[in-house]
Amino acid sequence: MKNFTFKMRLSLLLAAMTLSAGTLSAQSKVQPCGTTEYTRDVSMKDPDFVKNQAILEAQTIEYINNKHAHKGAAADDDVKIIPIVFHVIHNYGAENVSKESILEQVAVLNEDFRRMNADTNKTNPLFKGIAADTKIEFRLAQIDPNGNCTDGIVRVPSILTYDAGNDVKALSYWPNNKYFNVWVVQTITNAQPGSIVLGRSQFPGGSNLTDGVLLRSEVCGRTTNYQNFGRTLTHEIGHSLNLRHIWGDANCGNDQVNDTPIHQDANDGCPVNKTNTCLGTVTYEMVENYMDYTNGSCQN
Ligand code: ZN
Ligand code: CA
Repeated sequence: MKNFTFKMRLSLLLAAMTLSAGTLSAQSKVQPCGTTEYTRDVSMKDPDFVKNQAILEAQTIEYINNKHAHKGAAADDDVKIIPIVFHVIHNYGAENVSKESILEQVAVLNEDFRRMNADTNKTNPLFKGIAADTKIEFRLAQIDPNGNCTDGIVRVPSILTYDAGNDVKALSYWPNNKYFNVWVVQTITNAQPGSIVLGRSQFPGGSNLTDGVLLRSEVCGRTTNYQNFGRTLTHEIGHSLNLRHIWGDANCGNDQVNDTPIHQDANDGCPVNKTNTCLGTVTYEMVENYMDYTNGSCQN
């Protein structure tokens, strides 16, 4: 009976996939990031998350206020290395991404976080002086939680890949105090039916067991799919490290970062010399910022 139910579910799912594949190009809207909806959901369900976020915000303000005391300290100049693990949740299709794609993805991450990307010359001269190396580097894990050798890639067959939320995280997870978890899936569950979500992150302060990023398999690697150029994961890990969208998820909102300009709203495509008058005068928007929704080819 159990087997029958499973098969029924599978055939229904496959039928639904065939249907959606037929109508995909006509109806689907790309949503670069599903983190805002997810965060809203976590905030409602998990009072600890809200509390932890407030504590982290206070600590961050204190750190900034004391930054002169830290400046010049060796600890600030050291590159922080974060071991990363990719859990590829797949059903033997294209979502079972190659090791090569994952290596490319890690390379893009490190170029972007260390500002070693080849396209830094595209930064608006207005912002060149504040663009920075974050001194964070990601390395595929070499030792798994049991102390065995690993290439930092775990492959788990599951049909949950077709409609993935936090449920896939329970299939394969490494402790988040030692590893950064990325789950590669075919389709991320969406709060807005019919649209394609490229990535989804959890801000710090949520449950350890769901900490990390869900990444749509089509945007894993140095790929031009959905104009992401591998930068969906750069954006999502920005959220994991407590960065908000540059427009602060509101009209002329605040991203809580002083050296990024106020944005009117999310930008898409590749706007040139985009301005707003949020502050009463004309201000240029930093459309190159990874935390905007612009094309990956314009972010740097
Ligand atoms: Zn986002
Ligand atoms: Ca700002």
